[in-house]
Amino acid sequence: YGEHDMAENIVHLVLARVQGAPEGVKGISLFVVPKFMVNADGSLGARNDVHCVSIEHKMGIKASPTAVLQYGDHGGAIGYLVGQENRGLEYMFIMMNAARYAVGMQGIAVAERAYQKAVQYAKDRVQSRPVDGSINASAAIIHHPDVKRMLMTMRAYTEGCRAMASVAAAAYDAAHHHPDADTRKVNAAFYEFMVPLVKGYSTEMSLEVTSLGVQVHGGMGFIEETGAAQYYRDAKILTIYEGTTAIQANDLVGRKTARDGGQTAKGIAAQIEQTEAALLASGTDTAAVVAKRLKAARHAFLDVVDFVAGNTKASPNAVFAGSVPYLMLAGNVVAGWQLARSLLVAQDLLAQGQDEAFMRSKISTARFYADHLLSKAPGLRDSIVEGADSVTALAPEAF
Ligand SMILES: Cc1cc2nc3c(=O)[nH]c(=O)nc-3n(C[C@H](O)[C@H](O)[C@H](O)COP(=O)(O)OP(=O)(O)OC[C@H]3O[C@@H](n4cnc5c(N)ncnc54)[C@H](O)[C@@H]3O)c2cc1C
Repeated sequence: YGEHDMAENIVHLVLARVQGAPEGVKGISLFVVPKFMVNADGSLGARNDVHCVSIEHKMGIKASPTAVLQYGDHGGAIGYLVGQENRGLEYMFIMMNAARYAVGMQGIAVAERAYQKAVQYAKDRVQSRPVDGSINASAAIIHHPDVKRMLMTMRAYTEGCRAMASVAAAAYDAAHHHPDADTRKVNAAFYEFMVPLVKGYSTEMSLEVTSLGVQVHGGMGFIEETGAAQYYRDAKILTIYEGTTAIQANDLVGRKTARDGGQTAKGIAAQIEQTEAALLASGTDTAAVVAKRLKAARHAFLDVVDFVAGNTKASPNAVFAGSVPYLMLAGNVVAGWQLARSLLVAQDLLAQGQDEAFMRSKISTARFYADHLLSKAPGLRDSIVEGADSVTALAPEAF
């Protein structure tokens, strides 16, 4: 939104250097640069020297005017220092962390919309007879097992990521407002660990979900008129801005895992283990299956945490070759864990006779996530712990 006519004035937050600032990121300050200067009485004053020289043509999010801005070509733009000189990057990260969480939510939102549209289409589009002969004529495609698999994948990913983001938000609140200092500290560490997962995992999953949304629509999905393709195009930017998935993964490896020797990650694994015990104690077959998958995924996660914590300094290439897969594994495990927790709640409420159809859907979705998505975790562990050599084997000249 660098340039538009929806508001009288536009305020740009700009990173720049003051004269004589130290080299590199230590010399970056933050400024407010308005499009129009503001008079003492609040009215708009002179035009500032910041001009939009073009609006980008993009793959998606076409209603958002991403602008190329030119500063100071006509004598110099006036900017107001925010806070202290040379602390701009630090200030930017306050906004950046909130933005990373928000972009994760964008991923979940676009995934939900793609899912709703796909469900609607799958109930409407008639094509082929069901394989089980249950309908002796062409039926709505939602009767085909593979269409259901796609819809369940979309639903499980979206619900899992939404639950993960909600738990992260609650931890953020507790980190700021809980009366007990130790509880605030634990929640702060948990939230910090969650930010790259909410951003990285939810946005990568939104790409898969919106792609499946196109696939459910078949040929019509590729035709712009249905609108399914727009979600796919819109979702792609989410894995890029506010730090690409690899940048989130670098954060997860360096600041969130290696720095504390994997302690926060292991604390999360200990909580997951408690959920496994609760699942087993609940006594249902479904809960037992989910507990089994969750346990396998937790072990895979712990193996990778040990690998990352133990090797980041000594063998950085080996660890960072698997940094994005580690992010995907961690996001997968946390989202699957949250759906396992929701299964426990749904089982209890079902036993109390509450909203049977909704509770059964929750239980089925958690089971699907465990069977089809959590089950990928051990494979990812193998790729990360044993696969680094083949990532880095080729020299740049060999490409
Ligand atoms: C539509 C749109 C809107 C934007 N809005 C804003 C905005 O409002 N404000 C703003 O400041 N910026 C904005 N950006 C910029 C955006 O944040 C960056 O494009 C993004 O962070 C990626 O940085 P880059 O383009 O420099 O990619 P690069 O850093 O060049 O990345 C290229 C590739 O290399 C990888 N890579 C780079 N470094 C590493 C590393 N250390 N480890 C592993 N892999 C690495 C990346 O993951 C990526 O795959 C916007 C961009 C777009 C497209």
